[in-house]
Amino acid sequence: MAHAIVHRLLDWYQREARDLPWRRTSDAYAIWVAEVMLQQTQVKTVIPYWERWMKALPDPPALAAAREADVLKLWEGLGYYRRVRHLQAGARLIMDRHSGRFPAEWSAILDLPGVGPYTAGAIASIAFNQARPILDGNVIRVLTRLEAVPGDPTKSEVKARLWAMSRILIQAAPETRRRRACAKLNQALMELGALVCAPREPRCLTCPVNDLCEAFRVGEVGRFPETPRRAAPEPRYFVVIVAVHAGRYAVRQRSNVEVNGGLWEFPCLECGTAEESPEAVAEFLWGRGAEGGLALTPLTVVRHAITRYRITQRAFRLDLGTRRADGAGGHPWAWLTLPELDALPFTSAHRRILDCLRTGQPGGVAGGGRPSRTSSNRGKGLHPD
Ligand code: SF4
Repeated sequence: MAHAIVHRLLDWYQREARDLPWRRTSDAYAIWVAEVMLQQTQVKTVIPYWERWMKALPDPPALAAAREADVLKLWEGLGYYRRVRHLQAGARLIMDRHSGRFPAEWSAILDLPGVGPYTAGAIASIAFNQARPILDGNVIRVLTRLEAVPGDPTKSEVKARLWAMSRILIQAAPETRRRRACAKLNQALMELGALVCAPREPRCLTCPVNDLCEAFRVGEVGRFPETPRRAAPEPRYFVVIVAVHAGRYAVRQRSNVEVNGGLWEFPCLECGTAEESPEAVAEFLWGRGAEGGLALTPLTVVRHAITRYRITQRAFRLDLGTRRADGAGGHPWAWLTLPELDALPFTSAHRRILDCLRTGQPGGVAGGGRPSRTSSNRGKGLHPD
């Protein structure tokens, strides 16, 4: 049956594959960058990032020599910044061990920081046409449905079975004697999971392997994969105080021991509820105003999600006038103009606040109450991006 599946998938991929920019090359570095960007990020979001990146940093020597701030700026908005640090560390390792040429050996690919068996399999097969299996979320869904594989695919015994299935398929690919069969088969598996064998409402009637699919045959497509239910999302609330002093804005760079290290942000504080008083937060960060109060102007509300967190950030502008503006909130703030801010890499949420400042886009929220204990239990400004 493996041979039949492989032939069908290769035919289907030939007809239906999307024309994505990283599919027009077999350059391992370009494919590595695309694979890392595609982790946790949708294809349509990745395309412009990948194109900008490849123009600015076209090969490992360019990435290895780049300034961290420039690399972060190219990644700004993609989130999960550990990925980009791994990329640059990997490029430096390629310079040290492989004279700047991306290695083709399996063990050398696996040695790159942040590269696990899936990414290594993708690079080895797509760039070098090696018969290496892959297993990501899309492929897990296709394989569990094809053979109606019971059990939680995050468990080791189920995962081992799925890796074995993927291996059987990729090892059958060279026997088709088609050009770059391994490269195309793995991409076909991923593509089928993305376009046809979708999590909800899979298009089984037009699927090229529907007569070979056990879940479809027994009418239980929706049962697979048997992934456990996710924990309920956890809300988190932040108040952001955009302090302005003599035409400059207070910002700080997150340290490398924090989440999103190296990125910039406005002063902010995590609060216990959505109704915490922004005035109280401003007072906590900047002290009392001249008449015992601080005049805040609502700027915008940014909502975003990361892992299990649903994050709400309410942003307010605070004009400090002639008040002393250094060191408030325990941080050595940098005071920068809007053009200077534009050149820095920001966390995604704070980039949106910066965009709002620049465009004057209106926003408005009301506050009340005082910061709760949880204002400090996760630390000032310690928000995921
Ligand atoms: Fe997925 Fe349906 Fe195709 Fe089976 S028939 S592989 S469930 S799309």
